[in-house]
Amino acid sequence: MLKAPSTRRVLIIEDERDLAELVKRHLEDSGFTVETAARGDDGLRAAEATAFDLILLDLMLPGMDGIEVCRRLRARKVQTPIVMVTARTTEVEKVLGLEMGADDYIAKPFGLAELTARIKAILRRIDSLATTSDADDRPIDLGTAVRIDPASRQVIVRGQIVVLTPKEFDLLLHFARNPGRVYSRSQLLDAVWGYSHEGYEHAVNCHINRLRGKIETNQARPELLLTVWGIGYKLADHAVTGT
Ligand code: CA
Repeated sequence: MLKAPSTRRVLIIEDERDLAELVKRHLEDSGFTVETAARGDDGLRAAEATAFDLILLDLMLPGMDGIEVCRRLRARKVQTPIVMVTARTTEVEKVLGLEMGADDYIAKPFGLAELTARIKAILRRIDSLATTSDADDRPIDLGTAVRIDPASRQVIVRGQIVVLTPKEFDLLLHFARNPGRVYSRSQLLDAVWGYSHEGYEHAVNCHINRLRGKIETNQARPELLLTVWGIGYKLADHAVTGT
């Protein structure tokens, strides 16, 4: 069941008050319930105090920067999707490349319609994952090294639980359910992020690289998540066993 938009709670952590108010009013008009925080440390407290469906997190903030807010939330196992707001696209690679667990980003200046569409796409994607039937919840083994448990959203690599961000998990699960199939970056954006937006393809590269670092024996010579030159990526055909 899809939650009605009015029950969706969004936290905006943004120090530009005019921008925060504008986004808040727009999201409220779209049916969301919205809270705002103007400082990073206040935002962190708000995010820990109550559950939100999504957090819109500015990068440059007084009190505590967005990267630190994100890192602390993930360290405390808060799995709420986080959309990072960056003022410059040159920061994007850095933001996504860091081990801080943001799910997505949007560059300033952004259009309100685009922002709302992106937020809805992320929430739809989470709903569709949450409503996947039990039959699809059986663990998937990638060779003998990696086990993916869709029910608990846990990944075990060589006997150890490995912490993946929500987006890394969704990406890995998508590959695991379609072994051997080649995906372009824009197809992966469609399937995993819920939208395809020109210029965001390197978000896929960043997530693939981080996933490789977590599941491959040797990140420089991947044996599971393979690059298909000129096209995109695929999971090695032999990877999924026992299905
Ligand atoms: Ca700022």
